[in-house]
Amino acid sequence: MEDTLFHKILRREIPADVVFENDDVLAFRDIKPQAPTHVLVIPKIPRQDLRNFSSPQASDKEVGKFLKGVALTARALGLEDHGYRTVLNTGAGGGQEVPYLHAHILSGRKFTWPPG
Ligand code: AMP
Repeated sequence: MEDTLFHKILRREIPADVVFENDDVLAFRDIKPQAPTHVLVIPKIPRQDLRNFSSPQASDKEVGKFLKGVALTARALGLEDHGYRTVLNTGAGGGQEVPYLHAHILSGRKFTWPPG
C-alpha cells in the first residue's frame, strides 16, 4: 500500500481539523466540504479501501471497530437526532480519489437519491 495523504494526517505530518479520535479511528473535516458538515473517518490500521474487508482473513473485530468509529464520530458531532449520510467510495469505479479507506459523513443539507 502506497503512502497517502491520510497516512500523513494520521502521523500528524500534515494538519487536519480533527473532530473525533479513539484507539481505532481518526476523524477530521474534509478540506473541500460538500455539505455544511463533511467529515472523513479513517481506520488507524491503514487499509486501501473496503475491498480489504472482503478477504477471508479480514478480522470481524477490525471491520466492526471501523464502523463503530463512524457511528461514534457522528454522535460526537451531534448528528444522531437529525441524521446524516455516510459514503464509502471504493476504487476508481466508485470515485475514490485517496487510496486509504475512509468513510464520508455528511449532514446539514438535503440529499437526493440516487446519489450523483
Ligand atoms: P474520495 O473521493 O472518497 O477518495 O474522497 C477523498 C476526500 O478527501 C475528498 O472529499 C477530498 O476533499 C478530501 N481531502 C483531500 N485532501 C484532504 C486534506 N488534506 N484534508 C482533508 N480532506 C482532504
